[in-house]
Amino acid sequence: MKLRLCHLYPELLNLYGDRGNVLILRRRAEWRGIEVEVTPISLGDKLDPKAYDLFFLGGGPDQEQGVASADLVAKGPWLKEAVEAGAALLAICGGYQLLGEYYRTSTGETLPGVGLFAVYTEAGNKRLKGNIAIQVEELGTDRPVIGFENHGGRTFLKGARPLGRVIYGDGNNGTDQTEGARYRNAIGTYLHGPLLSKNPHLADYLLRLALQRRYGEVELPPLDDTLELAVNEAVYRRFLPTKGKW
Ligand code: GLN
Repeated sequence: MKLRLCHLYPELLNLYGDRGNVLILRRRAEWRGIEVEVTPISLGDKLDPKAYDLFFLGGGPDQEQGVASADLVAKGPWLKEAVEAGAALLAICGGYQLLGEYYRTSTGETLPGVGLFAVYTEAGNKRLKGNIAIQVEELGTDRPVIGFENHGGRTFLKGARPLGRVIYGDGNNGTDQTEGARYRNAIGTYLHGPLLSKNPHLADYLLRLALQRRYGEVELPPLDDTLELAVNEAVYRRFLPTKGKW
């Protein structure tokens, strides 16, 4: 088996260890004997919608998002074609915002988005930052997905399905308890971290979605995740608010 991963704008969109998610996906696949090919695709490159099983986009400051935005919109139809055909995708923060309909920055500039997710994002006055935990129903476990967020943009769902429900933290906009978005096998989220190091259940879920496209239902042999799961639990408990809003 071979997993073909496309890393979009690796030099532009890479905040708070986002790139680590690609390393984690690679390792977890290779430990199961699955070969992994990672292709960086950036400004001006063509994107073959049939060539990849999984796409990854990290986060970035407004300025880098501005550089990537027009190019990503141009690649939008290819990316949508891939997702409609079943490809998996993980987009973090700034990458997630650019896959929505638009992102209005704090200077009032509107960056057009791809429209893969039926969401839009507008900058607020205060950054939403801190540790966050969410519940993702599709994972079929009570174990939360944890990470940290740091974004000025507030994202509002315009019919999109959220990725999860906020347990603590701000999520999409700090008001409606939704976090991220989900469309077919594509996931957008505000969780940095790198997200997948502390959430091996989410990492394997994504790998299964990605492999499914070409290989059908795939059973991934379990790995020894004792340390990763201990970190998940310790971090979750450490930041669990005991009083106040929750
Ligand atoms: N620049 C965007 C914002 O502040 C995204 C930041 C990020 O990717 N962490 O909302």
